[in-house]
Order: sequence, then C-alpha cells, then structure tokens
Amino acid sequence: MKKVYGARDLMEAHFVRCLLEREGIKAAVLGEMLGTARGELPLTQQTLPSVWVKPEDFERAMPLVDQYEAGYFADEAEDVPPPPEPWICPNCSEQIEGQFTHCWKCQTSCPDDDTLDSL
Ligand SMILES: [Zn+2]
Repeated sequence: MKKVYGARDLMEAHFVRCLLEREGIKAAVLGEMLGTARGELPLTQQTLPSVWVKPEDFERAMPLVDQYEAGYFADEAEDVPPPPEPWICPNCSEQIEGQFTHCWKCQTSCPDDDTLDSL
C-alpha cells in the first residue's frame, strides 16, 4: 500500500477515498481507529487519517489527489450540508437536535430567523 493523501480530518479522508473509488481505484482510509483516542495523542501525521492505495494504482491516484488539492472538487465538497445546529426551545428551554423542527417536549416550533426579525 502507498499513501496518496494525508487528510486534515476523517471527512476529508473519506471524500478523497470516494473520488478514487469512483475512478475504479481501490482506496483505504487509515488512522480512523485513532480518532477516538485523539484527545490523548498529539496531532501528527501518524494520528491524522490518511488515504492509501495499492502500489500499482499509485500513478493513477496521484493526479486525482492533485486535482482535489487544487480545489477541482470543491463544489462537490460543498454539496454536503453541515449538520444542523441544535436549538433551544423558547417555551421550555429544552435543547433540541437541529434536525427536529418542533420541541419534542412541548411541541413548540423552532423559531427561525424570520420569526426573530418580525418580533
Ligand atoms: Zn419546548
């Protein structure tokens, strides 16, 4: 196995892996298991996730990684929506996960920006 990319985080590592596999290059993300112990380990190339391919695929994989680093796939990366922010119920002060539009406790709907503006 040869390392083609050292990622900043796991999401980036998996994005690069998907790019490669879409081109028929079998890729693996290493360093994943260390993620949970990250708090106790210093952030180094050894603890950050990295993307590896078979030696015979290395020549094909590198141009794709170069394109990724040049921002060629930036639009696709932005298509992934960020996880919704949790919100606080204005009625009962319960913290609600961002994917819910109503308070699970008292059914008050999530106050969006428009509501706040009209107050
Ligand atoms: Zn509530």
